[in-house]
Amino acid sequence: MNTRNPRTGEKDYFFSAMPAEELAALCSQARSAQPDWNENGLTARSAVLQEWKLVLQQEKTALLEALQQDTGRSWETKLEIDLLFSSIDRWCKHAEEFFEPIPTKKTQIPFIRLQQDWVPYGLVGVISPWNFPLLLSLIDTIPALLAGCSVIVKPSEVTPRFIEVMNRSISKVPELKKVLRYVAGDGTTGAALVQEADLICFTGSTATGRKVYAAAAERMIPVFLELGGKDPAIVLPSANLDIAAASICWGSTANAGQSCLSIERIYVHDKIAHEFITKLTERASQLMLNDRDIEEGEIGPIIFDKQVQIIDEHLKDALEKGAEILTGSRSCELINGGYYCRPTVLVNVNHSMKIMQEETFGPILPVMTFSNKEEAIRLANDSVYGLSGAVFAGSVEEAMELGKHVTGGAISINDAALTAIMHEGEKTSFKLSGIGGTRMGAAALKRFLRQKVFIIKENVEPSPWTIQLQRKA
Ligand code: NAD
Repeated sequence: MNTRNPRTGEKDYFFSAMPAEELAALCSQARSAQPDWNENGLTARSAVLQEWKLVLQQEKTALLEALQQDTGRSWETKLEIDLLFSSIDRWCKHAEEFFEPIPTKKTQIPFIRLQQDWVPYGLVGVISPWNFPLLLSLIDTIPALLAGCSVIVKPSEVTPRFIEVMNRSISKVPELKKVLRYVAGDGTTGAALVQEADLICFTGSTATGRKVYAAAAERMIPVFLELGGKDPAIVLPSANLDIAAASICWGSTANAGQSCLSIERIYVHDKIAHEFITKLTERASQLMLNDRDIEEGEIGPIIFDKQVQIIDEHLKDALEKGAEILTGSRSCELINGGYYCRPTVLVNVNHSMKIMQEETFGPILPVMTFSNKEEAIRLANDSVYGLSGAVFAGSVEEAMELGKHVTGGAISINDAALTAIMHEGEKTSFKLSGIGGTRMGAAALKRFLRQKVFIIKENVEPSPWTIQLQRKA
């Protein structure tokens, strides 16, 4: 399979998708190694992950190069790699807290007590997208490994270069290699993995999520879906407008808007709209493309060329329906083979436009005004998605009071898109943004475990119900 370089447009990387029989054999190997991995205990599993962290640190340059070629951007890639190292430590700590010995429990029957236990699923299949290839291939993998499962990861075919580095690093830790592998391939390989695994963690579009959900239902295996978003930000009159403009600009344009949790809709109270929009436009207009030098400029290329059509279509639809551009451009630009989208502030937008309804996945900042809190809440919730959102106000209490009414699993207060950085808060995705328990915080470990109970009779007397049966007989 040929892979396009997002900076040059050249198909300069070739890889072979793993054939279905090879995938089946690998899955079976990983599943048979899982009981030992689990039996070895959490301390041993944490030690293996710490050993892998050291190997990954040695591979940092190779990983950075591969990911930069995959995505065409720099600072987000460095952040992704840094977050990987800190996330291994964080998950080891969460797992230690989570797997504290469970005391036995008394029951209503005095001579019976309960001992709870956790039983991990065998093989977890992780299927991930192209927008944060490293982070999203590991966000479920690390807790699944710590929970005692083995894992096969199938990253996106759009960003496959880093797979080689990951597998090389895994090979250097023999205990890990038995229970973790990355496989290359497209949707066909992803679909084949759904047929092999005992549990699926899928991150990607809502459209593919539906297919994965249906295939998992046929096999009656659990599936966790983390899907698209259309996150709103609400700015109340009491908010600090410099902070709101700076945070929202970051939340909308980081990774060139290619994040599920990007701020894609901005609602501002009409009393402060002019001042806020001026500040937001000023900030957005200062951001530069990184087309000349990957280390200069905040805005990288659009990673996946098919996404360009969606961004252009949303812009065209908005402009035809009366939207006005304050800064930015009418469509993506082709520069030296790479597609770039300038941060674009739009006003005169409304909910009849695709730009306010469908996931755009570009650095577009459409702003609408509202005149009271009820209207702000109604507009924010007028979406098929419910991933996350942001509220800005003069006090935390005021922002939280409004945030309680916004449909979504994580609401940033007086900042935007904080789930990009803060992975400790437990949250679920609402509406079409996903299904399943939290993927963040210690409770995320529960997704990979089944519960088992030992029901223990403590005395040596026959139980009253067996005595009754004996009498009847
Ligand atoms: P996608 O759905 O096209 O692909 C995601 C993965 O699924 C890829 O690895 C792909 O090869 C695989 N796949 C495709 N067809 C499959 C099938 N039938 N069975 C199994 N696997 C299959 O998504 P994308 O374009 O790579 O990613 C962008 C989307 O991901 C956006 O909608 C974005 O919002 C979403 N996303 C969500 C989160 C979140 O946490 N909620 C995070 C990042 C991205």
